[in-house]
Amino acid sequence: MTEAQKAYAEQWPSHCRKCGGWGYTTGWMDPSSSGAPGYGGVPWADTCECTEEGRCARCGGRLATVVPIPASGQKLTVDELTCVDCDWVEGETQGMPPDEETPEDVRARYGAPNDLARDALKRPG
Ligand SMILES: [Zn+2]
Ligand SMILES: [Zn+2]
Repeated sequence: MTEAQKAYAEQWPSHCRKCGGWGYTTGWMDPSSSGAPGYGGVPWADTCECTEEGRCARCGGRLATVVPIPASGQKLTVDELTCVDCDWVEGETQGMPPDEETPEDVRARYGAPNDLARDALKRPG
């Protein structure tokens, strides 16, 4: 867990563990199961169960599209689901910071053509 992630978890101890406070989950569809051979995978995003059930992904509070304006006593109707307790807004408020990628992670994902080229140069003959 990175420092930023620890700080987020401390600030929002009740955040949704499934989506990390984002309100949705994302991933890559496995190309082998998509029925499209040779296609390199499809990104997907799904509304998390917390948001679907009207729970705030960040504080566990109540989501609504009619929210009270602090101090004025008036109510405001908004387009996106908004948390009555912490002002979290669906699709706008960021959740748990993503993992920081190490150079090793990047290398594992993209390969290391420069290293390969260097090794080839080193090899005699
Ligand atoms: Zn969630
Ligand atoms: Zn909230």
